[in-house]
Amino acid sequence: MKISRRDVLKFTTTLTAALFATQSNASDTKDNMRPAKKTNLAPIQKIKGPRVVVVGGGWSGLSVAKYTKLFAPLADVVLVEQKEIFISCPLSNQWLIDKVDLEFLTHDYLKAARNHNYTYFHATATGVDKENSILHTSEGDIPYDYLVLAPGIEYDYSYWTDDIVLENRLRQEYPAAFRPGSEHMTLKEKIKNFKGGTFLMTVPGGNYRCLPAPYERACLVADYFKQKKLKAKIILLDENNDITIKEHGFHTAIDELYKDYIVLESSAAIESIDLDKKIVKTEFDEYRFDDASFYPHVRGGKLLEIAGVAKDSVYNRLEGDIDVETYEVHGHPNIYISGDARPMGFSKSGNTSLTEGQNVARRIAAKINRQPKPQWTTPITICVSAVSAYPQRGIFIHSEYAYDKEKQRFSFATPVTNEIWKGETGIKNAKMIEGWAKSCYQEFFGK
Ligand SMILES: Cc1cc2nc3c(=O)[nH]c(=O)nc-3n(C[C@H](O)[C@H](O)[C@H](O)COP(=O)(O)OP(=O)(O)OC[C@H]3O[C@@H](n4cnc5c(N)ncnc54)[C@H](O)[C@@H]3O)c2cc1C
Repeated sequence: MKISRRDVLKFTTTLTAALFATQSNASDTKDNMRPAKKTNLAPIQKIKGPRVVVVGGGWSGLSVAKYTKLFAPLADVVLVEQKEIFISCPLSNQWLIDKVDLEFLTHDYLKAARNHNYTYFHATATGVDKENSILHTSEGDIPYDYLVLAPGIEYDYSYWTDDIVLENRLRQEYPAAFRPGSEHMTLKEKIKNFKGGTFLMTVPGGNYRCLPAPYERACLVADYFKQKKLKAKIILLDENNDITIKEHGFHTAIDELYKDYIVLESSAAIESIDLDKKIVKTEFDEYRFDDASFYPHVRGGKLLEIAGVAKDSVYNRLEGDIDVETYEVHGHPNIYISGDARPMGFSKSGNTSLTEGQNVARRIAAKINRQPKPQWTTPITICVSAVSAYPQRGIFIHSEYAYDKEKQRFSFATPVTNEIWKGETGIKNAKMIEGWAKSCYQEFFGK
């Protein structure tokens, strides 16, 4: 029999169609095929089980990813993070003055994912299709069953200025260094190169990231200048009426250790900033500076606004629009917001985010495992701050939270503090700092 060219074409077309049909029946294989060019699916393998996508590999997201997989082993957990490497904010004040090295602060996302059996996906989340449960990212779309947004904070310069040029100059020339990375490097260089004069720092109002950190930073940098015998003064312009946490410990350290180095100005809300003349004005005074780091108010990470899940809270603008008991986004109970982007008045700190991440994971796992809804559990704030570096002396707070029905807010419940930095107590307190950080890194990344 003669086989024509047309017959060959017909045969191959039928064969191709048959092959496609076989492939589309094998759903496991299909799910894991590299997506055809037309679709914009992210190239992530799909394993069986409901998919939980966590955006943000910070203190909260790392905890949610680890514990969701632990509590619901069948879940397909994907952590989406825009950075390739984790850098810790806690202990970065020590790094600024060379008390710990960068290696101590930096960690490996791939190791975290391998050790805890989830997928790390390096991409920036760019939007959320809430109706169809799809996360859009710079590297493609990710369908989800549950989504956790843990993008941390953004700076909110709007309390100081609506001039974009000034805002950009503040961001670039005088960064706050309350988000890890280049800002910290710039600040470290400023501190190292400072030849004397006035170094200005600020403490914002609202519920800002890490209440004690600006006071800790002022103390440590003052100690560093003191060791270098620099003729230097740190002016700490504090928008709040008083030191916001561990007041006794910080006040006594500033008064007794840094009398000649730190000027603390409370109730000092900034009214104008002139970067050319290097002058800052408050309602009552004006301050000249030689160098500075401006820490503005904070708000929730930009992604919340892009995704349409941001709302002004009692404390800050544009934080997570969630049910404060369940962490579920209003109207979208399969989306959660966790970490510093939350609207509750918890301390915006690492330990709070870590323990809260466990609570959020427990809630998602209960839904996946079809278990009863868990009771509300308090996050736990543990925070040890250094007040000096030579020698290292510290003060600490440990607190849980309770809901005040009358005020309709959470506040500290049964806080335990040790604000004695003098003598052996202060040295012992300081020893906890590195130990605490190491145990948290081990939680997230494994050994
Ligand atoms: C100087 C300093 C000292 C501190 N000291 C302490 C301390 O001693 N103890 C303590 O408990 N806490 C401390 N903190 C506070 C602690 O660092 C924060 O509270 C904690 O990091 C909050 O965790 P988070 O997960 O909410 O945010 P983050 O840790 O900031 O993580 C957010 C993550 O989301 C990612 N992300 C954001 N948007 C996107 C997007 N669109 N797509 C993908 N990824 C995205 C970011 O890259 C980031 O990795 C300190 C903070 C600072 C700045």
